[in-house]
Amino acid sequence: MTQFTPQPGIMDIALYQGGAAHVDGVSNVTKLSSNENPLGPSPKAVEAMAAAVAAMHRYPSSDQTALRRAIGETHGLDPDRIICGAGSDEIIAFLCQCYAGPGDEVLYTEHGFAMYRISALAAGATPVEVAEHERVTDVDALLAGCTPQTKLVFIANPNNPTGTMISEAEVARLADGLPKGALLVLDGAYAEYVENFDAGAKLIEARSNVVMTRTFSKIYGLGGARIGWGYGPKEIIDVLNRVRGPFNVSTTALAGAEAAVRDTGYVAHCRAENAKWRGWLADQLAKLGVPSDTSCANFILARFADQAEAEACDTFLQARGLIVRRVAGYNLPSALRITIGDEPACRAVAAAVADFKSGQDAE
Ligand SMILES: *Cc1c(COP(=O)(O)O)cnc(C)c1O
Repeated sequence: MTQFTPQPGIMDIALYQGGAAHVDGVSNVTKLSSNENPLGPSPKAVEAMAAAVAAMHRYPSSDQTALRRAIGETHGLDPDRIICGAGSDEIIAFLCQCYAGPGDEVLYTEHGFAMYRISALAAGATPVEVAEHERVTDVDALLAGCTPQTKLVFIANPNNPTGTMISEAEVARLADGLPKGALLVLDGAYAEYVENFDAGAKLIEARSNVVMTRTFSKIYGLGGARIGWGYGPKEIIDVLNRVRGPFNVSTTALAGAEAAVRDTGYVAHCRAENAKWRGWLADQLAKLGVPSDTSCANFILARFADQAEAEACDTFLQARGLIVRRVAGYNLPSALRITIGDEPACRAVAAAVADFKSGQDAE
């Protein structure tokens, strides 16, 4: 027994498992396990970050005005209702810290992102997992799962690791059906991969109980910089800003994100490349007897016959230096989540799965 007792809930947190980046004994690996953009950040973002490094003796902007203005201009949003975080993970943590505590419930879906549960527990709240319907967010199940203790309802749209999404009308029905005092959080980590999608911004303008989180880690290719943002009613953003550290986002991250969000041409290019190779890879795998739901994001959830086959295929891919993600921890033991890489990576995955299915050796 130690004399130091962590706060309730903390010891229930299982450490977040990031995507692997190495395979023992394999030198040339392709990482397809963390939904990173294979094309990297915009060259303009790289340039802006390099220039920002010279001023690292200065603290970063604490009001983050320049980035909030750039996001506002690009997405047609009110900069006063934007908050920036060290990744959208930090915005998720702020939401839990501010709105949920002991005795409160935080809802998320069966195959929902791991950080919802972790942040709920860190805040001392009770995480509640709600069933999906065939790997799709089930609005009726979420509404039925609400109680007077429900304070936050997280959905990712598109969802990770399923890649599926629900319509704006369904999201509106969820928002409108929530009990008073429950806030809907729309996690738009993959929103930029969907053509003409505002991630719920219009729903936010028309309601007081919806916020969204966004990230620079996915299509913008800035996962290493740790930067994301949130948008919602002024009253809620003002609350979140009270717990935000004044210098929570670094100078380099702010500079890179500002250049990245303004480089809409590069984003469109990445979206198109992803859509092209996502469709190609899904078709190839389907022909090999490995189906997947139509993905709206930058990965596909490949479904195998059972857990043993999924794990055997993962091992086979690893031997060829292809690192994908096992998702048993997301209640999907017989599936593998494969990030859409560049053309050579997608071709290598398809060829490896074909060889695996035909019983060839990996080497
Ligand atoms: C990748 C991802 C995020 C992004 O997290 P960051 O902290 O911004 O890197 C958030 N939500 C989901 C569902 C994700 O898959």
